[in-house]
Amino acid sequence: MKTVTRSTCCYCGVGCGVLIEAEHGRITGIAGDPDHPANFGRLCTKGRSLPLTAASTAGRALQPELRATREAKREPSDWSSALDHVAARFAEIVEQHGPDSVAFYISGQLLTEDYYVFNKLAKGLIRTNNIDTNSRLCMSSAVTAYKKAFGADGPPTCYEDLELARTVLFAGSNMPYAHPVLFRRLEDAKAKNPDIRWIVVDPRRTDVAALADLHLAIQPGTDVALFNGMLHHLIWEGMLERDFIDAHTHGFLDLKALVREYSPRMAAGICGIAEQDLIRAAEWFADSPATLSLYCMGLNQSSHGTDKNLSLINLHLATRQIGKPGAGPFSLTGQPNAMGGREVGGMATMLAAHRDIGNADDRAEVEAFWGVQGLSEKIGLPAVDMFDAIADGKIKAVWIACTNPVHSMPDIASVRKAMAKAEFVVVQEAFVETDTVPYADVLLPATTWGEKSGTVTNSERRISRVRAAVEAPGEARADWWIVAEVARRLEQRLMPRHENAHDVVASESKLFPYASPNEIFDEHRALTVGRDLDIGGLSYAVLEDEGPKQWPFVAGAARGDERRYTDGVFATDDGRARFHKTPYLPVAESTDARYPFRLVTGRLRDQWHGMSRTGRADALFAHAPEATVVMHRGDAARRGLADGDLVTIASRRGKMVLPLETSDDLRSGTLFAAMHWSGQYLNNGGVNEATIGAVDPYSAQPELKHAAVRIEVP
Ligand code: SF4
Repeated sequence: MKTVTRSTCCYCGVGCGVLIEAEHGRITGIAGDPDHPANFGRLCTKGRSLPLTAASTAGRALQPELRATREAKREPSDWSSALDHVAARFAEIVEQHGPDSVAFYISGQLLTEDYYVFNKLAKGLIRTNNIDTNSRLCMSSAVTAYKKAFGADGPPTCYEDLELARTVLFAGSNMPYAHPVLFRRLEDAKAKNPDIRWIVVDPRRTDVAALADLHLAIQPGTDVALFNGMLHHLIWEGMLERDFIDAHTHGFLDLKALVREYSPRMAAGICGIAEQDLIRAAEWFADSPATLSLYCMGLNQSSHGTDKNLSLINLHLATRQIGKPGAGPFSLTGQPNAMGGREVGGMATMLAAHRDIGNADDRAEVEAFWGVQGLSEKIGLPAVDMFDAIADGKIKAVWIACTNPVHSMPDIASVRKAMAKAEFVVVQEAFVETDTVPYADVLLPATTWGEKSGTVTNSERRISRVRAAVEAPGEARADWWIVAEVARRLEQRLMPRHENAHDVVASESKLFPYASPNEIFDEHRALTVGRDLDIGGLSYAVLEDEGPKQWPFVAGAARGDERRYTDGVFATDDGRARFHKTPYLPVAESTDARYPFRLVTGRLRDQWHGMSRTGRADALFAHAPEATVVMHRGDAARRGLADGDLVTIASRRGKMVLPLETSDDLRSGTLFAAMHWSGQYLNNGGVNEATIGAVDPYSAQPELKHAAVRIEVP
């Protein structure tokens, strides 16, 4: 019998609604959900291809596997033995070396319910905050900047603003590739009103830059100088909203003193653009009835990512381009559920429901709610530090779920070293051909899109249901179930309450009594009551009856908030937003005579992250059939290189060999390589052989976007 199941796309933070068609236990088709407010029935190439990527059990993890020693080969096992083994090894290591000797590295691809249980296991039971996620590589600078400027995480904007903006500034975001369905909404708006202005800030002439009214092709990493220079010009020309600044903000005078030196000429010189273009951008930004900034990894994946975000937010506050329809700073979430992960506190630096680890009152609230004592007040290790600590032997065991750090982390050689050094590695995965799986001592087969149920939160704070359309293949199990099963076993060992350690059932567990994702969601929403993201009024029943909802959604509410701070009151103690001084600092690794090229990294249109899913659909290789390194045509000609020549890209950390592609769409002295390809497709780890582990001092997000390299011709 043919079935149609309403769910959500599993790729990007747009969070498109989908209708999954299935027959005889197989996913056979997909359509955009016409009723979902993110996409109104539209899907991009990746979303439309989801049935192709779900069609086969080939390459899937189908059975638990484990090995007794690191030297042994993993053998097929059964669930009971694998779960017992994971619980026993984690308990031994915690008892012998303390809670911070173990770590969890999880993923923005997990559902909110999965995330919640992982977070409770680490923080509530083991009492370590060493739980971080690949969202650290994605959104942490945007989060840190929102908290510093507005007092709370979460974009103040919504998707309707895409249609209402009159000036749109894209910064470090190639939306036609990374958030295609939202970009279609912008294109429609501009087609209806050609007076809408698009400003694009990007070192490359990307697809969106080619369509822009003004393209600022800045030198990589100089965004802060650009935004400071724009603010300088607006101050000089008196184009600010002084009443708003005086009544609703702090810190403007200190910022004004800082940007005094960023004259348009000086800032444009740093950025390598024309002074007049910087001035034009500033004036378009300020004199528009509604200016919306859309930004993504180009700002976030930087050793100064927080300051890049803050310098752009400074412009919005100074011109009051915030808190009104069509205006505001809008960070576009990379992953489908980076927002949901933050909501449950699933990172090393936060607690559940946007609470802070360092805040004693916040810890006490979570302790009382969970019925535990002694939550650790020590901030956990964020991603780069976590793998360094594994390499140093300080962390002995790591549990990795739904992500592939041996591809996606910067300076991949150091991550490989860490994985080889670890005493015990658990990998919870749906796919077996990732670069990380070979390091697993225990492989736990997980369900994936189309097979699992729960919720996700998209870029506009909208919570949508994810639903299973087919049974999982083989022995694969839901992520939340796997974590809860190990947690119950650990609960026995670490919080002795039961007589029989091997007969624990959900109903007997104090901390992990869940029989369904619905029960986990209910616990999560109860913990949000009274917080900025209060979803006390939201339940699976409401989502079922009324469809996706934005947070906050308090008890008794008929709807969530589309926009935040519309009354000029921010989430800080005194309700005022904060300007921040943002001095321009260069990239972590400057070019020199030995490494004269700037390598910048990014996405392709039809691939997603490490390609564990999109790589399963041949059709998705039509747009870009192989990995290349793109070089400016003039630079290639001067070296006697042509399209298709094999070249080695070498940084101080590693090398990769790729075919050359020449182009006029990037600056001389700059190279571009896509992030997706790695060991499964290349004989090396891809771009992260070259990237650097330098991180932002506030957000700990690494500089995945830029490295100094040289070209060698084999
Ligand atoms: Fe999926 Fe993103 Fe494409 Fe929507 S835009 S279909 S969420 S990949």
